[in-house]
Amino acid sequence: MALRNILKVETEEPALRKRSREVAMIDSRLLTLLDDMAETMYAAQGVGLAAPQVGVLKRVVVIDVGEGLIELINPVIVYCKGEQINIEGCLSVPGKNGKVKRPEKVIVRARNRKNEVFELKAEGWLAVACCHEIDHLDGKIYTDKVIEYVELENSNQNGSEAK
Ligand code: ZN
Repeated sequence: MALRNILKVETEEPALRKRSREVAMIDSRLLTLLDDMAETMYAAQGVGLAAPQVGVLKRVVVIDVGEGLIELINPVIVYCKGEQINIEGCLSVPGKNGKVKRPEKVIVRARNRKNEVFELKAEGWLAVACCHEIDHLDGKIYTDKVIEYVELENSNQNGSEAK
């Protein structure tokens, strides 16, 4: 495993604005990518990371909101319900946090590393993380949707809940 460099909006926005491609085959390179992304996310104290944030335009996401690692390959949101407003941050936008409106509940259909299709039922903070990361796969950044920026006390360099 290895740490990957996280692209920042300030200097690498064009790369972060591209649409990522579907994964056609889950091979050893893809498994290495998944491992590296998880390691990079934990090292950066983030709760989610999308492959385009490490410069790989593939539809791959890792999330851990404190309930264990979730790996999503070719994730699609197939159901949304309700809404919530939470404060988000992003590992690609260090030093900023803002309020964003997201669905309260989502169901995400994806493949796991064994190439099995599964559905993830997510609500609350996990639903936020899913939406935030899947947006990255389409070149969208949470700052596009910010209602209001906020100053967080005790926030680390990357914000307290950076994705
Ligand atoms: Zn992000």
